[in-house]
Amino acid sequence: MNHPLPETGPDRQFQSHVADGHLWIQHCSDCGGAIFHPRVLCPHCGSLALEWRRASGRGTVYSRADLIQKPKPGETEPRHHALVLVDLDEGPRMMSRLPDVAPEEIRIGMRVQARIAGDPGEYAVVFDPEEAAE
Ligand SMILES: [Zn+2]
Repeated sequence: MNHPLPETGPDRQFQSHVADGHLWIQHCSDCGGAIFHPRVLCPHCGSLALEWRRASGRGTVYSRADLIQKPKPGETEPRHHALVLVDLDEGPRMMSRLPDVAPEEIRIGMRVQARIAGDPGEYAVVFDPEEAAE
């Protein structure tokens, strides 16, 4: 019999936490640092004492990069996407998208609210403008 090993790494823990629809990030019990992406070791002090806490999900757009994708078969216009870096209120900076906002309408400094998108086991964190999320 050949059973795969159980997936217990930090990314797997992240997936099970955000299944409640909220953004969770790790906090270091030793130095108090907030951590994203999920890790085994605190990137600030090397501690292993990391705990999961529900984050506010609020943040500020730090930067935006526009990507233009070739048209898919059957489409005539190229697709525009924007990748954003969001500074969470808890501290960590994360790369994400604002799927419902046109790239040119994403402003640096815009207040945003996290949303959990995707399917179980493959959840991704995306953002909406904070005004629209209230
Ligand atoms: Zn630490």
